[in-house]
Formats: sequence, structure tokens, C-alpha cells
Amino acid sequence: MSGKTLRIAGVTRTFPATRQAGPTLALQPTDLTVAPGEFVAILGPSGCGKSTLLRIVAGLDRPTAGALSLDAAPIAGPGPDRGMVFQSYTLFPWLTVEQNIRFGLRERGVAEAEQRATAARFIARTGLRGFENHWPRQLSGGMQQRCALARALANDPEILLLDEPFGALDHQTRELMQELLLEIWEADRKTVLFVTHDIDEAVFLASRVLVMSARPGRIKAEVAVPLPYPRDWTVKTTPDFAALKARLMGEIREEVRKAAAG
Ligand code: ADP
Ligand code: MG
Repeated sequence: MSGKTLRIAGVTRTFPATRQAGPTLALQPTDLTVAPGEFVAILGPSGCGKSTLLRIVAGLDRPTAGALSLDAAPIAGPGPDRGMVFQSYTLFPWLTVEQNIRFGLRERGVAEAEQRATAARFIARTGLRGFENHWPRQLSGGMQQRCALARALANDPEILLLDEPFGALDHQTRELMQELLLEIWEADRKTVLFVTHDIDEAVFLASRVLVMSARPGRIKAEVAVPLPYPRDWTVKTTPDFAALKARLMGEIREEVRKAAAG
């Protein structure tokens, strides 16, 4: 289990006005503490500020106000302690699967033999054996996301940040990827912050689900998911799963309606 606590205090993001439009308040003051080894899902309608929040935690964007830290260290930019996987395919197209997975290790000057060994380990764990020398364009969407996950894990981050990582995949592939991620998390218990608009996905994976309001986003509800781990797909057929889903649906429907109304 990783050992660092993520603290988000009063984090706000306003995007400045452009010639066409006024400023956009994307994220209202948000407070959140994520303990080591938690699997937290952030659930909310499209445009509510989920990616904005995650990008700020990743250090890819700065908050307008508020502060973030991982244990004692303030978050001021990207770092190897946070691994990110995006919805869109973000592998380096000029690198093979194996080279993509080694990228962060190479950047940090890790010895060649260790790079290879680490890459091989995550290639095996994500089911990419036999694809080491493929180019990203030769892979299906699901395989590309396996590789993106392996690339993030290879850096041994304190916390994994996943922004709708399976959102572009077909239903069956998506379910397989959820099971793969869960299996990895159950073994390593790395802290995960997982953004999704899919209620089933949030309940199946997370130990805690945070529901965001329509834009400007804020965390409007928090639902603990007391379903025991390890979980497999059969949990989705249980009454407890259905009850959690119904509760979250109620919360989300209200927000989706607000978002649709503008
Ligand atoms: P979500 O991920 O929940 O769909 P986002 O965080 O991407 O939502 O966006 C929240 C709001 O902030 C949206 O209204 C979006 O248009 C706006 N937004 C996001 N990024 C920018 C940006 N770089 N410049 C201006 N507005 C932005
Ligand atoms: Mg988004």
C-alpha cells in the first residue's frame, strides 16, 4: 500500500474570459482528503469540472485559489509521484509499447536493465505479452489503454489519476478493463482517483464515490461503497449493488437535468 495522503483544500478554478465569452467558473471551492490505498471515484455529468480537478491534482493545471499537497509536499507541477491515464489515447506514436512503458524510467535515468525488467513486469500484468514491439497505431483501443495503464504504473506512483480511461471503449472491453484495474488495485492497493460519468463503473470499482454537481462543480454528495473486495462481475447482480446504484442515480439525474438546462 502506498503511504501518502492527498489533501485538497479550497481548490477553485476559474478560466479567464475570452473575446467571445466571460470567465468560466469551472470548479467551486473543493475540499477533499484521500487516504493511502483508497479507491475514490469522482462521478459527475459532462462539463462539471471533473477533468479540471484531476488535471490540477496531476499538476497539469494550477488552481485559481486553494492548496494541494501529497503528505507534506505541496503540489506545484507534474511529478512521478502521480501517474495519469486519460480517456483519449496518449501513447507516444513514435515509440513501441515497450518503449512507451519505459519512457518515464528512462527520463529519470533508471538503469537500462531495470527499465527492461520493470517494463516486462507491467507488460505481463496488463496482458500485453506478445505486443512489446507493436506501435500504438497497431493496437486496439483497449490494448492502447492497457499500455497507458502500464506506463503509469511503471513509474510506481503514489497515486493513480484516471480520467474516464475506459470511456472510449466498447462495453465488453470496458468491463474487462475494469476487472483488470481492480485486480491490479487489489494486489497493490495504490491510491486511485478515478473520474467517470458511469454509475456502474463507479460502484463496481470504488470504495468511495464523490458526486459532483453540475457546473460550476462542487462535491455535493459522498457515498461509501461497502461491497467487500476482492470483487468480481457477479457483485453487479447483488441487491446491495442495485441499492447503491439507485442512490447515485438519484443524485446524478438531478445534476444531469441541471446541466442540460444550461
Ligand atoms: P468534465 O471533465 O467534468 O466534463 P471539465 O473539467 O473538462 O469538465 O470542464 C469544466 C468546465 O470548464 C466546462 O465548462 C469547460 O468548458 C470549462 N473548461 C475546461 N477547460 C477549459 C479551458 N482550458 N479554458 C476555458 N474553459 C475550460
Ligand atoms: Mg472530462
